[in-house]
Amino acid sequence: DKTINKIAAGEVVERPASVIKELVENSIDALSSSITIEIKDGGKKYIRVTDNGTGINKDDIELAFLRHSTSKINNIDDLQNVMTLGFRGEALASISSVSQLELITKTKSDMSGSQLVINGGIIKEKNEVGCPDGTTLIVKNLFYNVPVRQKFLKSNNVESSYIGDIIYKLALSNPQISFKYIKDNKMILKTPGKGNLISTSYSLFGKEFVDSMFELKYSSKGLSIEGLICKPSFTRGNRGYQHIFVNGRYIKDEGISRVIEKVYKSLIPINRYPVFILFIKLSSNDLDVNVHPTKTEVRFSNRDYIESNVFTCVKNLLTTNN
Ligand code: ADP
Ligand code: MG
Repeated sequence: DKTINKIAAGEVVERPASVIKELVENSIDALSSSITIEIKDGGKKYIRVTDNGTGINKDDIELAFLRHSTSKINNIDDLQNVMTLGFRGEALASISSVSQLELITKTKSDMSGSQLVINGGIIKEKNEVGCPDGTTLIVKNLFYNVPVRQKFLKSNNVESSYIGDIIYKLALSNPQISFKYIKDNKMILKTPGKGNLISTSYSLFGKEFVDSMFELKYSSKGLSIEGLICKPSFTRGNRGYQHIFVNGRYIKDEGISRVIEKVYKSLIPINRYPVFILFIKLSSNDLDVNVHPTKTEVRFSNRDYIESNVFTCVKNLLTTNN
């Protein structure tokens, strides 16, 4: 399949955080409005992702664990459209081959749910069970059968911080979904899922953060820019509080960061870094699809146009509020 060949073979499963990213993206694809993520010991021992989405049809369950059998990509247009989320049709196959995995799932139309236990890629159990609509995936003992990979994992704290980082970005870019994150039996975050960035940011970063931000809403031909951007008094000493999402995907972009910083520099004399959460939406034709989906850099075909619009809308917002 040519399309498949176009995609760089991804290292889907690198660490607990990448497992969580794949599982949560599947939950998002399944139209869930509520997703709960639970981990123990930095996700090395235990990861659970539960959603209230479509569930998996009984007949499709085993298929879901076959490599490439489920890829949502049929042609290059699809490839462009699914750029933002996982799409290689191999996440579950990969994860189940390097862990002890349990799936519990039920669709609305089925009377009962199904449970599947897979260890190291081998199906151990398949049962009918009673369960709510939606899907739960439990991943235990990641890399238990690949000691080399296990050795590369960092401490529980470090692995947890990668996980926390992934989850808050997923929560920010999906404000219509209520996320819960439980770490070692402690609730770490809970977003309301009310669909707006303010209430999501409030639950993630608190009142002071939200009070220190302006709301940005802007559109121009083929481009929309929305989000929160800080009052000049709330700037920081580094870029760590800058978030850019392009078509829902988290990216890092030096060029866009610089353009925004330039606006602040023209208003305040000191060298400070603005805090912002920006969602840029553009036609997928304007993004280079060959950049691997796990990378945080993207290439724009019309960078100048994007940067000049970012500059204009941030400048307008700050000068009218000054
Ligand atoms: P892909 O997401 O690229 O299709 P995955 O290996 O991540 O490949 O998932 C395989 C398939 O399993 C998906 O296409 C989907 O049909 C099904 N699936 C996985 N997770 C869920 C979920 N949480 N809810 C519903 N279906 C799911
Ligand atoms: Mg997937």
